[in-house]
Amino acid sequence: MKIAIISDIHANLVALEAVLADIESQKPDQIVCLGDVVGYGPRPNECVDLVREKTDVCLLGNHDAVAIGKDSVETFNPYAREAVLWTQGVLSEASRNFLVDLPLFYNGRDYTYVHGSPDKPDAWNYITNIGTAQDQFSSFDTQVCFVGHTHVAAVFTESRTIQLKKPDEKLIFDKYERYIVNVGAVGQPRDYDPRASYGIVNTEENYFYFRRNEYDIEETQSQMTEAGLPMYLVERLTDGR
Ligand code: ZN
Repeated sequence: MKIAIISDIHANLVALEAVLADIESQKPDQIVCLGDVVGYGPRPNECVDLVREKTDVCLLGNHDAVAIGKDSVETFNPYAREAVLWTQGVLSEASRNFLVDLPLFYNGRDYTYVHGSPDKPDAWNYITNIGTAQDQFSSFDTQVCFVGHTHVAAVFTESRTIQLKKPDEKLIFDKYERYIVNVGAVGQPRDYDPRASYGIVNTEENYFYFRRNEYDIEETQSQMTEAGLPMYLVERLTDGR
């Protein structure tokens, strides 16, 4: 089975549409979303609608949780806070109803999926390096755990970081190793590659690869400016920082 894994859409509809078109070309059997459908970006309801329609599983992210009032806005930096307060104001009843029911993690047949970290899915911990990754391997039973949240595409084993610099470069999971894979962000990449990021995994042949998709960044930026979202959030999309 081939599974497309997307995360951190952040209400960037133009990026989501580009990614969904690319996913169609990869012909997966399932699409899993690791959360943060809303927050930061200008089109939260449209993104919720598309995610509801196109994905088989969707998890709750920290921005989704704050947007629906499940978590407090207090932990957010001023930019994230301003954006999520704007999101709360425009979120439709239907979008709220969708987000409020999302689970924090998903134990798939082959892999584990979570937005932040498998040890405490509701603590929104960041797995940013080999040290923070190593702490997590005792918290899941499968060979691979897929995460999002940092907006940085990355692969960790129990002993090292694997650099998959080229999209489409296949990583074959070694049966003697375990992995934490961050699929990167659709709507706000922070690894200095502004293209939308997501991943494809093949459960039978046990391999994974990243996809990076160009999209019309300026269109999203003008939607954000029109909505009055913080300039810092608008500008960071240009170079994916
Ligand atoms: Zn996020």
